[in-house]
Amino acid sequence: MSVTYSDVEAASKRIAGVVHRTPVVTSRRIDEQAGAEIFFKCENLQRAGAFKIRGAFNTLAQLTPEQRDAGVVAFSSGNHAQAVALAARILGISATIVMPHDSPASKLAATKEYGAAVVSYDRYTEDRAAIAAELARTRGLTLVPPFDHPSVIAGQGTAAKELLEDVPDLDAVFVPLGGGGLLSGTALSVRHLAPTARIYGVEPEAGDDGAQSFRSGSIVTIPTPQTIADGAATTALGQHTFAIIRELATDVLTASDAELGSAVRLLAVNTKMVVEPTGTLGLAAALRLARGELAGRRIGVMLSGGNVDLDRFAELLTSQGRLT
Ligand SMILES: *Cc1c(COP(=O)(O)O)cnc(C)c1O
Repeated sequence: MSVTYSDVEAASKRIAGVVHRTPVVTSRRIDEQAGAEIFFKCENLQRAGAFKIRGAFNTLAQLTPEQRDAGVVAFSSGNHAQAVALAARILGISATIVMPHDSPASKLAATKEYGAAVVSYDRYTEDRAAIAAELARTRGLTLVPPFDHPSVIAGQGTAAKELLEDVPDLDAVFVPLGGGGLLSGTALSVRHLAPTARIYGVEPEAGDDGAQSFRSGSIVTIPTPQTIADGAATTALGQHTFAIIRELATDVLTASDAELGSAVRLLAVNTKMVVEPTGTLGLAAALRLARGELAGRRIGVMLSGGNVDLDRFAELLTSQGRLT
């Protein structure tokens, strides 16, 4: 494998003092409803509002002086963009971000506030990777991929490392799944620190390429899925992430938009936290398995991000499960 747990340990040292060690939160009322003990790793409280600063900072901190001077480029539907923009600002590197023109307004605004230049594109007709590659070639920028890069994966793995250091005896860990940076990094940490714990990736029902890939043994590509989980609306796993997920994960599950809406409300009511729909994918699937094979077990759930427009959040709180 291109990344190992020792890379996660190295990333952990590199990000210390810059990236928050986020809290682990529990809720007695959620546990009662779920019929299991759930430990939430709160990356919704992370800098820039999601775990992505872990991988972005770990990657940017390893650039050569020449690469730093030239600057970086990234493509993202939101949280990776903000993370690269913030990591670049902290390290004094200039950043250009390729973002869909229909990204949530809060994500576009935050990326610009961090001082990055934004290039927008149409995510249903244009190829963001090609646009970023062209910018990299013509301007000498270093491309920071959102998930399929060894140092991004190692950085994302630090969240699960912290979770297991705080709560060592988990029976299962659930994380949201888009391109698989978070799941592959998590898998490296969980397999090392809690070798028998189950590891689940959870993706939106509308885009189950990860589940198809996991089962078939080769990467399946789908059209861009329409889902409220905008942070996981990816079309395929990466080469690096797939190899790790295939070897180390227990299974890849899905959650519907209605389940995500319920999970957003459950967290708001019982923990008072704002978690974006994508960030609740793990919880949605954990609640389902807690009604069966994981009843009474100790379950780690990654709340991967909290970036949601306030009017969108209000809609989710009042929609009572009707979400289209
Ligand atoms: C990016 C993102 C994901 C998916 O992460 P991958 O590494 O692409 O699988 C999940 N949740 C949030 C909040 C994200 O920003």
